[in-house]
Amino acid sequence: MVKGVRVIRNIEEWINQYKDQLEGTYQHLHSIAEVSWQEIETTKFLCKELDKIGIPFVTFEDHPGLVASWKGDIDGPTVAIRADIDALWQNVDGVWKANHSCGHDGHATMVLYTVKMLKDIGFQPKGTLKVIFQPAEETGKGAKALIEKGVVKDVDYMIGLHVRPIQELILKQASPAIYHGATMVLKGKVKGIQAHAARPHLGINVLDSIAAIINAINSIKMDPAIPSSAKVTMVQTNGKNINIIPDEAVFGIDLRAQTNEAMEVLLDQIKKAVYASGGFNGAEVEL
Ligand SMILES: [Zn+2]
Repeated sequence: MVKGVRVIRNIEEWINQYKDQLEGTYQHLHSIAEVSWQEIETTKFLCKELDKIGIPFVTFEDHPGLVASWKGDIDGPTVAIRADIDALWQNVDGVWKANHSCGHDGHATMVLYTVKMLKDIGFQPKGTLKVIFQPAEETGKGAKALIEKGVVKDVDYMIGLHVRPIQELILKQASPAIYHGATMVLKGKVKGIQAHAARPHLGINVLDSIAAIINAINSIKMDPAIPSSAKVTMVQTNGKNINIIPDEAVFGIDLRAQTNEAMEVLLDQIKKAVYASGGFNGAEVEL
């Protein structure tokens, strides 16, 4: 049998043997979901598991996450495999909690069991295998923090993974690369004039501005041949009283576009839409 085929068979056999344990680890990570920068229990668990596998690792004083290094006997390149470990804050069946709906519990399981499997089947890195469990992927800041700490300075190759929704890849299919579009978030503020709800003509109601902004954004026409979207995803006013005309609101817009050029066009349209619509009643609009 060719060596490569034998290795793959060994891997398949190993996976079959550890299937239940692997699923158990996934379920456990799912049950202890923690949001960005608070992945304390998740980090503790992964440390414990790496201890069992017998690979040295380092943790960080100022934030969760860990980095393991498995040095082989021969000098060679440093290859890193990386998983993110944070969850999202979501309403799950009526309860607000940290929830692994992005699949990072699966990622951490996959990377952990990859190392465990490599160790078990007698793999020896020709160089160094680095294992990175990165915190705070959802905020976009965890990777930056690890880069600033020099974690990837010596890395020659890095392998990362992310589960994809069925719209992009059907179940059990993998792709070496998925080309992502551009993304951008905008925050805005509307300032009006407070008044008693019995005298609305004396005030400027910022929620009227927000409604106009939402309608204007939803009316933007982009080239249908290039996928893009823009939507208001957050609105908050300062008021708690129903009988008061609110005079301040903040809002957020999420933008997506398949190309940077389309994003430029979208951004330009958004600015026009927000300023022209939000200020119709005399409110001041900032974006
Ligand atoms: Zn994710």
